[in-house]
Amino acid sequence: MSSIHYPPSTDLREMLRFSPDDGLIWLGEQRMVLLHTAALSALRKELIESVGMEQARRILTRMGFASGQRDAELARKLRGDATTIESFLVGPQLHTLEGCVHTDPVRLEVDVEKGHFYGEFRWSHAWEAEVHLKEFGQAEHPVCWMQVGYASGFTSYFMGRFIPFREVECAAAGAERCRIVGKPVEEWPDAQEFTPYFEADSIVGRLLELREQVEAMRQSLACRRRIPDLIGSSTGFQHAYDLVVKAATTKVTVLLLGETGVGKERFAHALHDLSPRRDAPFVAVNCAALPDELIESELFGVEKGAFTGAHAARAGKFERADGGTLFLDEVGELPLSAQAKLLRVLQEGEIERLGSEQTRKINVRLVAATNVNLHDAVEEGRFRRDLFYRLNVYPVTIPPLRERIADIPALVDGMIARFCSLHDKRVAGITDKAMNALKAQHWPGNVRELQNVLERGVILAPGNGWIEVEHLFIGGAPVMPPQAGVGADGKLREPQARLPTVAAEGDVHDALLDAGIPLEDFEQSLLRRAVERANGNLAAAARLLGMTRPQLNYRLKKHDGER
Ligand SMILES: [Zn+2]
Repeated sequence: MSSIHYPPSTDLREMLRFSPDDGLIWLGEQRMVLLHTAALSALRKELIESVGMEQARRILTRMGFASGQRDAELARKLRGDATTIESFLVGPQLHTLEGCVHTDPVRLEVDVEKGHFYGEFRWSHAWEAEVHLKEFGQAEHPVCWMQVGYASGFTSYFMGRFIPFREVECAAAGAERCRIVGKPVEEWPDAQEFTPYFEADSIVGRLLELREQVEAMRQSLACRRRIPDLIGSSTGFQHAYDLVVKAATTKVTVLLLGETGVGKERFAHALHDLSPRRDAPFVAVNCAALPDELIESELFGVEKGAFTGAHAARAGKFERADGGTLFLDEVGELPLSAQAKLLRVLQEGEIERLGSEQTRKINVRLVAATNVNLHDAVEEGRFRRDLFYRLNVYPVTIPPLRERIADIPALVDGMIARFCSLHDKRVAGITDKAMNALKAQHWPGNVRELQNVLERGVILAPGNGWIEVEHLFIGGAPVMPPQAGVGADGKLREPQARLPTVAAEGDVHDALLDAGIPLEDFEQSLLRRAVERANGNLAAAARLLGMTRPQLNYRLKKHDGER
């Protein structure tokens, strides 16, 4: 009855990957879950009973809309070179593959450039119609809200304009099958009747907003000034943060400990901002960044003529921080002579500029930081024991990023927002797969390294698109566990049978045969490529190939032996 034929869905099925070892299912880069329709049905029923038919319809429509939008991104990616119709059919085909409904196109006109769209589809096996009938019996009006939301979300994203669909017949309302029609919102004379279902709900939204306000007020009571730069709710991080908050109102010298890149300067800044000194200067000095012969004049200042090159008197960092906070980063790198002077300042509360006999009273809160073990430095005679005791009154250890994986999503969100505004760019966000990859990293460079990776991601992601794994990790994405795909027969194929995901499997075979590449050569180049991709890590390469390490070794040796 319909003259529109679906192209093979091989490309779509290739996108669907099961990763049973780590409990993940992927559709492209988006994480999916297999849910029982019974569970969805229970959720739907509770929604209807607790917030009413209208609100439930709104929530479900918007939920479907969001998933349709996500799938529309795949359309562009997978069938960018195909005809517009084939590219559009990704939507109905994915909707079918995802098990929501079987879709038959009745009429379909798509002209993205002119903004013209008309679509009419018949649906069978609609899950929403099925569960609605079961829970509530025959309905008066069509009820496939989430599915209509999906069609609308997909089409609107695909067309770049709002194209709502409307269900004109529904299997749950007595029709033989469901039927939907979609066209631009301007072309619906009765658009106001159904477009509100696509908009964020006002009542629930307002309630949530109120609750957020209450929560924010509570938070601000608990901690009078919130520090936007310090993000994290993991135990280790919170512990460090609480220690800093408690120290802020006192004058105690704080020693911040932690690996490089964990954000020690931010903590020092927070300490300053939370302290009564917040309106006085915060001065930071990186002791490792200054040559030994300059460090003392930098810290304590210099009198004119104190040494060759001292043409004018200059105040040091201590004087500049007077009344405020001085942050000495990498304090373990201070030369011994400067350590002696620093100790005196801490004991006497006064400084002498180089080349001057005159002492000046100063009132400075000292925050020091180090990523080296000061105990060891003391034992090795590189750091004064008395200064160490003086600094180590109130140590605060900031955990490395790999010990606070739970904080990564919040950190990432904050960084994306910051880099987008810095680079004047908009991105839709980060894919689930990319987020998982970030969580799986070891992060020797900690938050700073994460920041660099995300800045690159923001720059490389397409405008308004998603940050994907490839935008984050150049030259080798992290190795993922083996994944199984779905074959044409609908069965899961074992990870070993996995073939390149970009090309349809038939193409690969044909290409190999056409090129006349001997199997042995192909095997060898595949093995080498896997080792390369795993950065020489044979265990990881073996995982990529779906074999054990001894198996990989054997095959590599076999090839070497033949040469
Ligand atoms: Zn229906």
